[in-house]
Amino acid sequence: MEFLHDHEPRSRYYRSRVPLLVLLLAGLICADTQAQESSGIVHFPTRERSWDRIPSITILTAANDSRIPLVLEAVEFWNKTFAEIGTAFKLGPVEQASEIPPAPFLLKMSDAVLSRSPLPEFPETLKNTKGDLIVVLSDGDFVSFSTGFTKAGRVVVAIKSDRKSPLIYADYPNVARNVIAYELGHAIGLGHNNDPTKLMCGRPASCRPDAFRSNTEMYFPLTEIEKAYLLKIYPPTWSPSR
Ligand SMILES: [Zn+2]
Repeated sequence: MEFLHDHEPRSRYYRSRVPLLVLLLAGLICADTQAQESSGIVHFPTRERSWDRIPSITILTAANDSRIPLVLEAVEFWNKTFAEIGTAFKLGPVEQASEIPPAPFLLKMSDAVLSRSPLPEFPETLKNTKGDLIVVLSDGDFVSFSTGFTKAGRVVVAIKSDRKSPLIYADYPNVARNVIAYELGHAIGLGHNNDPTKLMCGRPASCRPDAFRSNTEMYFPLTEIEKAYLLKIYPPTWSPSR
């Protein structure tokens, strides 16, 4: 089966000088949970990246797309998480617009992200879209992705069609909800781990989005190390620099 999880380029954009240090720091910060999580959870290195402002969010979507509430709930999920861990950072106000980039362009973007190649030139409509974090709800068939920061300092998240596996609600309840939260997790700076019971499981682990399937609607959790990492990149004293 095709590896349907997304992902982001860890290459040029994410080549890291800090992952080991981050992991060491995270380990020190939560020494008590480290032991608890030493039972095989691996956090894969990712380049440190974080927002210097409260990102405004624009959803590019058809008017009645059933994924819109999932985006709103994912924003709530993350903001609740930020409040719980004690950072002042949060995701900003959400707007909606209808200029959805064409599916072939999103497929190209997805391929570029997966192959760690430069992103294709954005169509004018996307360049002109307001908002720091753009969430595209597409009807295209591609691997959902999050770009990391573009040259313009924004992040584009694109979610594939919910009429295609594994986002079809009837066959995969609870998957689209977690895929959207997961891509926003990348957009705020998290990388992957290898635990299929956690939200941010991903490459090089073999997790697939269908692991999110559940008859109970719920978000998969973060690891304690991820929470400590978020508090490191968005400390309690965090404030927007612009
Ligand atoms: Zn990923």
